[in-house]
Amino acid sequence: MLKPDRVVPTTCPYCGVGCTLELHLKDDFIYRVTSPFDSVVNHGNLCVKGRFGYDFLYNTDRLSQPLIRKTPQLPGSRTQAFDRSEWREVSWDEALDYVADRLMEIYRRDGPDALAAYCCAKATNEENYLLQKMFRALFRTNNIDHCTRLCHAGSVAALSKALGTTAMSNTAAEVAQSDCFIVTGSNTTENHPIIALHMKTAIQKHGAKLIVIDPRRLEMCDYATLWLPLRPGTNVPVFSAMAHVIVNEKLYNQGFIDARTEGFSDYLASLAPFTPEYAEAVSGVDRQLIVEAARLYARAERGAIFWGMGISQLAHGTASALGLVNLVLLTGHIGRAGTGLNPLRGQNNVQGASDSGAMPYHFPGYMLVDEPGNAEQWEPVWNVEPGGLNRRRGLTTTEILSHAHPGGVRALYIMGENPMMSEPNLNVTRRHMQQLEFLVAQDVFINESGAFADVLLPAAAWAEKDGTFTNTDRRVQRVRRALAPRGNARPDWHILCDVATRLEARLGRPATSRWDYTHPEEIWREMAQVVAGNRGVTYARLERGGLQTPVPDEQHPGTPFLFAERFPTGRGRFFALEYVPSVELPDEEYPFILTTGRVLEHWHGGTLTRNSELDVLYPEALLELNEIDAERCGLQTGDVARVSSRRGTVVLRVRVSPKARPGVVFIPMHFNEAAANLLTIDALDPVAKIPEFKACAVSLQRASAAELAAPNAVTARGRY
Ligand code: SF4
Repeated sequence: MLKPDRVVPTTCPYCGVGCTLELHLKDDFIYRVTSPFDSVVNHGNLCVKGRFGYDFLYNTDRLSQPLIRKTPQLPGSRTQAFDRSEWREVSWDEALDYVADRLMEIYRRDGPDALAAYCCAKATNEENYLLQKMFRALFRTNNIDHCTRLCHAGSVAALSKALGTTAMSNTAAEVAQSDCFIVTGSNTTENHPIIALHMKTAIQKHGAKLIVIDPRRLEMCDYATLWLPLRPGTNVPVFSAMAHVIVNEKLYNQGFIDARTEGFSDYLASLAPFTPEYAEAVSGVDRQLIVEAARLYARAERGAIFWGMGISQLAHGTASALGLVNLVLLTGHIGRAGTGLNPLRGQNNVQGASDSGAMPYHFPGYMLVDEPGNAEQWEPVWNVEPGGLNRRRGLTTTEILSHAHPGGVRALYIMGENPMMSEPNLNVTRRHMQQLEFLVAQDVFINESGAFADVLLPAAAWAEKDGTFTNTDRRVQRVRRALAPRGNARPDWHILCDVATRLEARLGRPATSRWDYTHPEEIWREMAQVVAGNRGVTYARLERGGLQTPVPDEQHPGTPFLFAERFPTGRGRFFALEYVPSVELPDEEYPFILTTGRVLEHWHGGTLTRNSELDVLYPEALLELNEIDAERCGLQTGDVARVSSRRGTVVLRVRVSPKARPGVVFIPMHFNEAAANLLTIDALDPVAKIPEFKACAVSLQRASAAELAAPNAVTARGRY
């Protein structure tokens, strides 16, 4: 076997599990990835993305030189251009001056809120901290967000309202200590494969009982004691009916309710309509299954709940997650190992980007921008004059683009995100993108959003830079540089410091915040001055493995599970809920419900995995369809179907699958040739502002192979 020159330990760049990787290098080339058997998170296991998905680093399509568009685009007529002839390669100085000049021009003309930034859940904590600092401290705007808005905003809003927290309460591997756990709205096997392994071990070796509540017959159903196949969008009645059974049969934990909660009596009254019979009528789940699930979970010694975006990506995503919080408060399954409320975060660093202030309502550490006393703590750290930081909440991801018009947002800085794949209703997103006056894209590749940009800044990939990621169970872990950046690419933190230095000079503000960091560790230390839960995390301590926040001081060992004694709000709050149906229900014209999600081999908008050999394993979008529906539509596996909603059409191949329940079809979100988000609806949860990705009405027709090959409305994919 080839002997490596070096083995560099680091953290996986894909999902929120945060597996430890060892990059084996020979002649400065990564030829193999392994994981040590004593790795805390993954015990040496890796999924296909972690083990083989690193080859995008060497893809010759990578962005390796700053580019400026030859002919500036005008608002309203902005187009996507992948064609090399549209761009000219420029020096870093020219690109950075151009970015600073254009942003300043718009800032001076239209004010702070004409600018906005998308931070990046794939970038490090330090980089997200810097981008939000740049926009807050220099431009004085809170128009800063990232893809958490599109995945778990409903969960974050619910946990904040009920408990005053936002993250997973427990460590995923603690599932081995649960005697019963619920998995709902999560295709854990494909989206968080290593956590799925922990779950299977808990069942097979420790005898835990699993309840799956999901519209699709996912692989975890093979391991489940109960599967509750609900219609998409009917979480609230199912969870509330379980609570109804727990109350009726007096299975609740009175001691916990008395000692740790508030609002119980009002909540009790609100449960009256949610009988199992009613829940069966609206959700399609057999009432007896609801009763059995309620009993199994409530009677457990240690019950845990894990959920994914099937709960949060709904126009009532906050209410869905509150339904789970209510179950936990009823039973007292929290504050101990093997229990808890566990929203499985999607991207590798979506937890960390949120922790680092990449959100419009919060400074780093979830300090509300409009809560007295919070801005005052950041102003001296960022050398902003007292009262200088903006105390008004900014625009969310979805609002930033819908405000792209004269008088609204004119310039957008995108670091590593891809709204032209990840936003709902992409035909409308495209029109919003076209209205921007200036667009910066900083990324590893030119993706579907970067193709709209005026300037492209080549960013180093994860293996080419230092920093930290925070995984789904709040574990801060090191990311280490194994390679020099490709071509002239630079780490995001380095680019941001260069832009900010130029902005400072143009703003002419005296002695404003410092941007002369020599290493990301200095950025982390600056953030940890104010964020109490980060104070005990140092790079030196991370050399010995990750630390789970909160870590209040350097002697603290980290916090595997939260709320042993109390909730941040003092008492956990019950919330009375109402069932509000999905915004768009199936009808004669659009008789199927479309739900969207991810597959094992790909990741989100596909910027990385579709530029990797992983694309060979799963090269095209497939429509997952139940055999009854397939027969009704005259379709078989391999046929081509046209799927239409009121917003758009995609054409893709059919896979008849027992995973699909009758009336519900599934399309993965990664493929621009059949972009699922051309179909999805842009209805938003009123609290969390998260779109309803998980339920809209569609129709199906047989289509021809010629239609399959035609470019679609959003993404005539090209290569730079
Ligand atoms: Fe990477 Fe997630 Fe796979 Fe682990 S489970 S190897 S973190 S993609």
